[in-house]
Amino acid sequence: MNIQEFRKQFPDEETCHRYLEQMIWPTGRICPHCGGIKSWSILAESKRFELYECASCSKQFTVTTKTPLHSTKLPLRTWFMAMYFMINSSKGISSIFLAKWIGTSQKTAWKVGHAVRALMASQADAMPGLAGIVELDEKYLGGKPRYQKDVKHKRGKGTAKSCVFVAASRDGHVRASVVANDSYSELAPKVNRFVDTSADLMTDQLSVYQMIAEDYASHSSVNHGNKEYANGDVHNNTAESFNAILERAKQGVFHFLSKMHTQRYISEVVFRWNHRYPAREVSKNGTKKIIYKAKPILEQLRSLLQYAVGTQLRRTHAGGIFTPRPAFR
Ligand SMILES: [Zn+2]
Repeated sequence: MNIQEFRKQFPDEETCHRYLEQMIWPTGRICPHCGGIKSWSILAESKRFELYECASCSKQFTVTTKTPLHSTKLPLRTWFMAMYFMINSSKGISSIFLAKWIGTSQKTAWKVGHAVRALMASQADAMPGLAGIVELDEKYLGGKPRYQKDVKHKRGKGTAKSCVFVAASRDGHVRASVVANDSYSELAPKVNRFVDTSADLMTDQLSVYQMIAEDYASHSSVNHGNKEYANGDVHNNTAESFNAILERAKQGVFHFLSKMHTQRYISEVVFRWNHRYPAREVSKNGTKKIIYKAKPILEQLRSLLQYAVGTQLRRTHAGGIFTPRPAFR
């Protein structure tokens, strides 16, 4: 679907509003304050969106209450456009370009961009743990130090680079998170959160994986130091492909960013990776490779908006942003 078709699909505020209600409340209205399922529409001429009152807590809400879309006075259509551009750009968009395309100031586009990334992060958080063969890898954004015999590179806290932990299943799904370093205490909780215990783990030879893998179905490791990158089915190629895309996004779009916001940009790359489908299989030098393509835009938009409630962005005193979670979830 190109941008003209997308504009036609969402011609005005009313259409966007109805679409959003369907996405956020697929099984009927839920009060974002208390989780109550009984509410009624109340007349409010001055309000932008249809206003409801909860029967349980008597508080008022609209479809955007407690969602990132609530935090600006932007038309819904502008939000939808921003989502369209962000979903469609294979390497991510800078706030400068996004501002031009959606017709806002750069400051507003920056905020919109982060709000959409927050939605992308919630989507991944709501998915079940990865299963089947799952490759685990740690990546230093800006490049891992090359292996050199008898040279011990500074790792983790000793380097200025952000360490990213990546879990990639062979069926095309990935989770990734910034970690302080590649120690057991940092990696174990991430593996626990991202990977189902039924999984067969594939890792490099980092010793902490031996311990972590005890709770999982099986564990194989590749010795990168011996240039043994792929040994039959034992390889980390999927995680490596994801890492390459992450690196390109960093070089191209978010190279100048503070560590504080790195996780949000990673969530964007994760979202795009997880919203592809296996389009065809190609055979190269006797090995089969699946070519993935992006899922239809409306399917991705639906996936994005389903997790909107509870991801409202708030400013922290330190100038960062955080997303308070609703108590009833
Ligand atoms: Zn309520």
